[in-house]
Amino acid sequence: MDSLLKKNLKIENYMTDKEKIDDGNWANCYICELVFNRKRETKRYCYYCKKGICEGEHGTFQGQKFAICLVCYNMHKVKDN
Ligand SMILES: [Zn+2]
Ligand SMILES: [Zn+2]
Repeated sequence: MDSLLKKNLKIENYMTDKEKIDDGNWANCYICELVFNRKRETKRYCYYCKKGICEGEHGTFQGQKFAICLVCYNMHKVKDN
């Protein structure tokens, strides 16, 4: 119980969303949290910024594993042009 609590605290405070998801945990979509102040759990993360993004709404998905958040998508699109 005690070690589980410590593990959860560690996950919350020190791990990136990518690390959480790779470890089999859920992460929160950072755009939902930032813009709408709500928590939406996801198992997808952005290829560029490694932050959690909810499926369909705040990410562009290229195949099974590769996803880009809307912020990075717009940023890299501008860079390419
Ligand atoms: Zn979202
Ligand atoms: Zn991103």
